[in-house]
Amino acid sequence: MTAARPRALRPGQWDLASAPRRVVPLYLSIEALAAGLVAFFPGGVPTEQDLARFGALLVVGCLQTELSLSTEKARRYLADGPHISMTSVWMFGGAVVLPAFLAVALTVIIYLHLWLRVWWSVQRRSAYRVAFSATTVVLACVSVHPVLTLLGADSVQVDSWQGARVLLAVVVAALAYTTINGGLVAVGIKLHHPTRPWRRTLGTRSENALELATLSLGGAAAVLVVTQPALVALMLLPVMVLHRNILMRQLEEKASQDSKTGLLTAEEWRVRVAAELMHTHEPFAVLMVDLDRFKRVNDTYGHMAGDAVLRTVAETVTKQLRSYDSVGRWGGEEFAVLLPQVPDEGAREVAERIRRAVAELEVPVSIDDTSHTIRHLSASVGVAPYPEAGTTVDGLIHAADTAMYRAKHAGRDTVVSWADHPVQERKSIAPTSPPNLRLRPPS
Ligand code: GH3
Ligand code: MG
Ligand code: MG
Repeated sequence: MTAARPRALRPGQWDLASAPRRVVPLYLSIEALAAGLVAFFPGGVPTEQDLARFGALLVVGCLQTELSLSTEKARRYLADGPHISMTSVWMFGGAVVLPAFLAVALTVIIYLHLWLRVWWSVQRRSAYRVAFSATTVVLACVSVHPVLTLLGADSVQVDSWQGARVLLAVVVAALAYTTINGGLVAVGIKLHHPTRPWRRTLGTRSENALELATLSLGGAAAVLVVTQPALVALMLLPVMVLHRNILMRQLEEKASQDSKTGLLTAEEWRVRVAAELMHTHEPFAVLMVDLDRFKRVNDTYGHMAGDAVLRTVAETVTKQLRSYDSVGRWGGEEFAVLLPQVPDEGAREVAERIRRAVAELEVPVSIDDTSHTIRHLSASVGVAPYPEAGTTVDGLIHAADTAMYRAKHAGRDTVVSWADHPVQERKSIAPTSPPNLRLRPPS
């Protein structure tokens, strides 16, 4: 028996070989650009002081990783969109005060350490993706010095740092850093997951706020490392506590998300409707969207294909909505939508848009290595306007479900509003409720 050659010596089996084709040229050119920039603009020859600052930032960066291994592992496990790394504090701090070559070395070592200690064991994350991710940070780091120089704050001597100017320069440098890093990461994610909407690749507002928070701390670390390198250690605990709090928030978000579609869970969606009822006096509307004859999709293509359809429909419905609308997975193939500040007419238009978008869907699926395209999907949508259709959460859900049921009876693939029915007819609905009228999602 011969010992197997390590995978590193079998390029055909590298993850890179199975990467989406468009990704490889992008990754390689970005990496070449980063290497070229560092080679041509390495910054000044490092002084002893530079090396001391580099050492201080490297020690706290690696210590932070070691002391928050479990937090970082859990965050990586939960990660879905761009991952905001808390180590940006040290990397950005390094970019502000160190010559480019040393700042890049700091970034590369911190990334390598993170990959070996955390990411590799959690997700078996491909080395080429980690390398790309590190390269985006390298490019972001390289952009920092030109910005500081342009704004007249490139000196690392404390005396010459004039408060307001330095503040402005560091803020602009942080914006350049996060734009370059975030923009390239978003393009990378989009190439790997072409159907994912841009807003999920660019990160949520709170993720971007977190990124800016880490860069602000990075600015503070830069000043500290110039004045008293050893005192940078004082920043370790606050950064770790922030890191833990972020994990808590991620866990809360996960608990409110349906694992299959990423939409809100039915319970979380109900909470949003209750909050809307409590805080608004304006009209709003609730939609109930039910896929037509969905059982046939499962029967024809199998449950896995059915799941792919559910995920695509979830994305499609979300695309038709504003960022502050709420959409949840109400039950198996039913979706519930909350449209704040939208009266009946507007809600019907949104419902019609959703219906049309579902009807136009083409979902590629692979069954036993054969590609199929699922078409001719349709949905029935019920609209319940507040306050006419109900003034409680249950009342509105009941009204939307009733209207949706009427859409089914009207031949499916249609939108019906609760307001369409004569008063007489509305009253008669309750006692003879169709069997699937539910005020709670199916358990
Ligand atoms: P109708 O037009 O009357 O709504 O017909 P329908 O087939 O959509 O409705 P029915 O309630 O008879 O069936 C719903 C189907 O949805 C049955 C179930 O197998 C499927 N379903 C529910 N949850 C899931 C899921 O998570 N994944 C998949 N693949 N299918 C699901
Ligand atoms: Mg249903
Ligand atoms: Mg259905």
